[in-house]
Amino acid sequence: MKRRLSHRYEAAIHAAVEARGRHNMSDVAGRHTNLKKHGRELVGLCPFHSERSPSFQVNDAKGTYHCFGCGRSGDAITFLIEKEGMRFTEATEYLLGDSLPVISDEERVRRKEADAREAAERIALARSIWAASVPAAGTPAEVYARSRGITMDLPPSVRFVMTPRYRNTDTGEVGRDYPAMACALVDVDGKLVGVQCIFLADGGRRKYERTRQDGSKAKAKLTFGILTGAAFRIGPRSDSIMVCEGPEDALTLRQETGRTVWAACGTANLSQVVYPPWVKAVCIAGDNGDAGHSAVKKSIEWVEVGGRSATTAFPLEAFKDFNDQLRGIRK
Ligand SMILES: [Zn+2]
Repeated sequence: MKRRLSHRYEAAIHAAVEARGRHNMSDVAGRHTNLKKHGRELVGLCPFHSERSPSFQVNDAKGTYHCFGCGRSGDAITFLIEKEGMRFTEATEYLLGDSLPVISDEERVRRKEADAREAAERIALARSIWAASVPAAGTPAEVYARSRGITMDLPPSVRFVMTPRYRNTDTGEVGRDYPAMACALVDVDGKLVGVQCIFLADGGRRKYERTRQDGSKAKAKLTFGILTGAAFRIGPRSDSIMVCEGPEDALTLRQETGRTVWAACGTANLSQVVYPPWVKAVCIAGDNGDAGHSAVKKSIEWVEVGGRSATTAFPLEAFKDFNDQLRGIRK
């Protein structure tokens, strides 16, 4: 049983990786919008929302798309799921079929090597941030956790760091250091591949906030290294775990249920986390609201593709997420 489970899961992941790299993202998206070359990317009108000037970008080298208007982003598989309503396995099979032009073997090898180089650089950056971090006790990271109703001892996967928000990977230029709660992101083997930083202000009493000149809000949470497939983990190894979207909810669920809890640290990653063979059952803990429910729905399918049992949990109706429920903050 153990062998079959992990074999099926590995086969599904292998098929997905193969399917993602098989075509140009522009050929997949190009069936729904006209794309024009613009520097290293292709741009066009967004197929997900109605607009007059193009804010939809496709990067063929990376096999990804992103819309600056509505925020949709992903790869060939998520595009087919979200635009054409396919299920995960249907999208994989479609891409493995011969409906679209296929990239040459040489080009795929070249892209794979470029990807591997870029991934190695990003992991090295995440490890250098983690190496510069200190235990959370007595730091603004602890102040922040307490302000969110977390009274338990913080797990070793949470630390405090002073690190730049701005980094230009092309020029090597970095901005000044800011205080942050650092959450470790580990891959399927438990190796550190990323760090999610929750930037803090006022000695940790609140999250970093800044409105840019164009009126947009700077993000309090930035992820360095690799997020896709990785997870922030709290608690011992267990065959039955909970998974949720953010670190605050993960700390809340760990404290309130005593179970092993993982956070995907991003909505899209909730249906991309790679589970090791020893995880047999996953309880997906979502946010209330449409976005939360749709993220959970995709995640159920992803868990079940791996031959695992999936259950769900939501906060009480009156609250947006589990941390708001803990603190009694109603919608
Ligand atoms: Zn859009």
